[in-house]
Amino acid sequence: MKKKCIVWFTQDLRLSDHRALLAAIDSGYEVIPLYIYRDEDPTWKMGAASKWWLHYSLKSLSDSLEEKGARLIVRKGPTLKVFKELIKDTGASAVFWHSRVEPFARKEEESVKELLKSLSCESFSFWDNMLFVPGDILNGQGEPYKVFTPFYNKCMKVGEIKSPLKTPRVVPGVKGSIHSENLEKLALLPDKGWDSEFSTMWHPGEKNAKVRLQKFCQRVTEYTKNRDFPYEDGTSLLSPHLHFGEISASQVVHSIRESSSHKGEGYVRQLIWREFAAQMLYFCPKTDLHPLREEFAAFPWKKSAKHLRQWQEGQTGYPIVDAGMRQLWRLGFMHNRLRMIVGSFLVKDLLIPWQEGAFWFWDTLLDADLANNSFGWQWVSGCGADAAPYFRIFNPITQGEKFDPEGSYVRAFVPELKDLPSKWIHKPWEAPVDVLRLAGVVLGKTYPRPIVDHDEARKIALEALKYTRK
Ligand SMILES: Cc1cc2nc3c(=O)[nH]c(=O)nc-3n(C[C@H](O)[C@H](O)[C@H](O)COP(=O)(O)OP(=O)(O)OC[C@H]3O[C@@H](n4cnc5c(N)ncnc54)[C@H](O)[C@@H]3O)c2cc1C
Repeated sequence: MKKKCIVWFTQDLRLSDHRALLAAIDSGYEVIPLYIYRDEDPTWKMGAASKWWLHYSLKSLSDSLEEKGARLIVRKGPTLKVFKELIKDTGASAVFWHSRVEPFARKEEESVKELLKSLSCESFSFWDNMLFVPGDILNGQGEPYKVFTPFYNKCMKVGEIKSPLKTPRVVPGVKGSIHSENLEKLALLPDKGWDSEFSTMWHPGEKNAKVRLQKFCQRVTEYTKNRDFPYEDGTSLLSPHLHFGEISASQVVHSIRESSSHKGEGYVRQLIWREFAAQMLYFCPKTDLHPLREEFAAFPWKKSAKHLRQWQEGQTGYPIVDAGMRQLWRLGFMHNRLRMIVGSFLVKDLLIPWQEGAFWFWDTLLDADLANNSFGWQWVSGCGADAAPYFRIFNPITQGEKFDPEGSYVRAFVPELKDLPSKWIHKPWEAPVDVLRLAGVVLGKTYPRPIVDHDEARKIALEALKYTRK
């Protein structure tokens, strides 16, 4: 009889370039592919948007595995209970998986290793979700980098990015029936129709990730020029596929380099920000909730539930901010430029703690990723590694005028302003009365007046910054 093993899928929901799966097959095992659905952490329970993605991604993985000869087993956690039961029922003698950087995932991995040891089951873990293993890229003193550019330069210097591994022709599954939860029973999809527009933009799963990558390769040469303009088709939209591991970062880098004469360096640089964020969470595991720069713990935040709600609902009276927040709600996504603008507005104009923004993003972003999200919020707030200094406060009017000059993005997501001329689209409160009337805008009724005065808010924020110097 052939020996059996479990391949534990986590954030690597693909079959190609999958180191753990290949290792299991190459070692001659029959494979039990397993996904465990569980609350990984009480603070960071999987967000509603992520659950939507997971539902379709698991379906896609399950279909691909069936095509190759194996069946995906989905079980509900707790993790250790699942492993104990499955090993007892199947006699599996080894478990293969990919390691992750999230602190709760690392803790879980340690306890799984201990359990497997006590059951005399072998464990094989690999780092494969990133381009580099944490600890590969260290500075001259052997410490993790806290500044991006030298980190990036070192990444570029250490040599070739590993080539993607082959896709297994078959995945030798085990015979006999093993209990698997019905995907529908996990109830991952929201029940109130909030997701109704997601599928106009998103198609989860490994095959769709490859299609999106191929399409993006055709326009990667335009990336640097267009990436900051939210209405352009400028960025790759690969972030949820990358987060769920439907495509690996090395597959992306290799495809991009093959298709671009200047090797897509501007784009690869963004992927290295992903590496930087991951190593930050790995080496500073408390940065999901605590500022890296400790002096920010003394910052006098305000906790206005009303302002937070207005920001979440895209009702701040600043069109570019509202457009970003409504894009997030409607499509489970927000362009990077907008994440910076709405983040700055929350933290600096409203003085609401960045963690509140991180929680909201965590629940509503399809690409919610603990490393990138915590890093992004600390960057915006000026309290993280190589962050925008706190005193650099985004002006929502000039940001709108610069990155959405025709107001196309605002019109797409704030339809009540769609007939305003471009000159006023980012500052409707300054528009002459007859212009507002012609556009059907009644400030305070059809569209809110600004909930704070930006110039005033800016002064207050700079004043508040002094507390971090005490
Ligand atoms: C406040 C804030 C919160 C964020 N939260 C997340 C999050 O939860 N998940 C997430 O994946 N990204 C997050 N980002 C980073 C970035 O906004 C998104 O990765 C990007 O908008 C995704 O779109 P794209 O795939 O079209 O990006 P592209 O421009 O095509 O970039 C390619 C890939 O590089 C990576 N990347 C790009 N920019 C960054 C960055 N600044 N930091 C880290 N990785 C980056 C992503 O994996 C992305 O898919 C956040 C940024 C900010 C400012």
